[in-house]
Order: sequence, then C-alpha cells, then structure tokens
Amino acid sequence: MRPSLRPAAAIPATGARDRYVPAQLESVWRSRWRTARVFEASEPQTAEQRERKYYVLEMLPYPSGRIHMGHVRNYTIGDVFARFHRMRGAHVLHPMGWDAFGLPAENAAIERGRHPADWTRENIATMRAQLEPLGFSYDWSREIATCEPSYYRFGQLVFTRMLRSDLAYRKLANANYCARCATVLANEEVVENACWRCGGEVVQQAREQWFVRITKYADELLEGLDALSGRWPERVIHMQKNWIGRAEGIDVRFSLVEPEKGAPDGVDDELLVFTARAEHLREATAITVAPEHPLARAVAARNPEIAAFLAQAAKLAERARTQDPST
Ligand SMILES: [Zn+2]
Repeated sequence: MRPSLRPAAAIPATGARDRYVPAQLESVWRSRWRTARVFEASEPQTAEQRERKYYVLEMLPYPSGRIHMGHVRNYTIGDVFARFHRMRGAHVLHPMGWDAFGLPAENAAIERGRHPADWTRENIATMRAQLEPLGFSYDWSREIATCEPSYYRFGQLVFTRMLRSDLAYRKLANANYCARCATVLANEEVVENACWRCGGEVVQQAREQWFVRITKYADELLEGLDALSGRWPERVIHMQKNWIGRAEGIDVRFSLVEPEKGAPDGVDDELLVFTARAEHLREATAITVAPEHPLARAVAARNPEIAAFLAQAAKLAERARTQDPST
C-alpha cells in the first residue's frame, strides 16, 4: 500500500501549521516509508521489472564512530541518483552496509582495551541512528556488515573456489612492511614512506603472498572494453587498458659475463628479460634489476657500497623508485 500524500492527521500540532519543523514532519514521513516498505527491493516479478533492474551502491562506510559531512555529501548524491531512477520507473536496489574489517578497529580496540567486535557493533548502531534521520532511500532489510560470518562466508566460498580452479596462488613478492607494527601495509597506508598508523619507517620486504590470476582474463577484459567504446570516456578506457596491462613481446636471455670472477655464487649465468620493444634491443646498453633481485643481492654480498644502496632503495615504494629524479 502506498502512503497517502497528505498525512495531515499524523503531523503533531505545532500551534503554527504553516511553519516547517523538519524534526516533526520528516519523522512522520520516515515512519510511513518504513511501514509501507517503499524502499525495499523485492525480487523482480514481471519482465519489465527484470529488464529495468537498477543497482545503486555507494561505497559502504567504515564504522569508525560517527558520520561526518563527507558521508552526508556522498550518500546524498547516491540517494538522489536512486530516487531519480525510481521515479523514472526503474526497479531500484539501493542497499546499505558497513565495511567493517581492518586495522582501524584493531587499533581502536588495542587503545581502549576492548574487543574489536564490541567496538565495531556499537559504532554501527550509532552511525545507523545518525544516517536514519537523513531519510536516505535504503533497503535496510538487506543491510550487511563485512565482519559478520553471514557475509564473509561468501568471500571464503569464492576464495576456495578460486583456489580449486588455480586462480589463487602464493608467491614471493615485495610488500610494504612496518617493523614497529609487525604488519604489511597497502600502498594507501604508506604516507611518504612512513607507516600511516605509527609513523615508523616502511621498507620493501619480500614475503609469501596470495595472488589472483587476473591475467587469465586479460583478453576477455580487453574485449569488454571494446564494447564500451563511445559509451565510456576514452580516457577511462585507456586507463583500464593500462591497468589490465597486457603486453605482447618476447623473452630474451642475456649471458652474464664477468670475466675475472665468473657468475656470482647462487646466481644463474643468464638473465631473462621480457621486452615489448624488441626493435630497440640492438641499442640496449644496460639492464637494470630490482634491489630484491638475486643478482643484486649476490653483488651486494661482496660490495658494501652496493649493499648500502640496496638498503636505501628497499625503503622506497615502487612508485618512488621508478620516478626519474630529474622530474
Ligand atoms: Zn607502523
């Protein structure tokens, strides 16, 4: 049943009926929306509903404690979008939830001597109560929190399937590491080579990590991008292509020749290089290896100056390393 447009009887008498008192009027409407479940998205029943399904999702908030003006701005934009499409007759699903795992909860729990689950659930309750008066058109019946087993079991399910299909694998690779926090950090958590939470020095450390074989889908992804030509901005398509990063080229084996000493111990006497620009091979005068490369380590083992340089380079994030110092 749809609510009537004039719930006059439900509006508390204010003594001045022509005065707009948001706290009174809006709570009446919110409760009507709730009772009539106007924002709950049912499974599409008709062919038209199936055809006009529309999914609106803003990034879920992190339950840090309280909502701030950034949340109000961001979720207002999403809500306008959801309402716009609903008014145009789309079958809109506009859910809300909480991105509730991670270091902030761990840190806050350590600071306060509390269990992170209690702290997180309290914050969710507070923030939900703060979002509610803003009247966003969420389907709260589908609320999720990523820290709840009812949610993350699906992440685990997908992961185990990827593992069985050989799409997830472990290998040694560099990671940002903060020794003080004894943890690895995402690139976003490294601020000017320092750890975002303790300010300690971040070094590049080779560690066993999980990887997903997204390269298997490179061709499919690129084909999909072709279909978006003219519908997406060319700039964005170009960025996506760079991100997919498929390159065609050749593997070249270079012999390592060091006449007096021979190849350093424990290192192949060949260096395998991939290049997408085979036409430039004739002009190649030098090959650069990463500081973590076994060859660099072997050379450093007998040259203290190179060892010192490698220690310095290990402190730089990948982006900073490859930057031309003259720019
Ligand atoms: Zn740290």
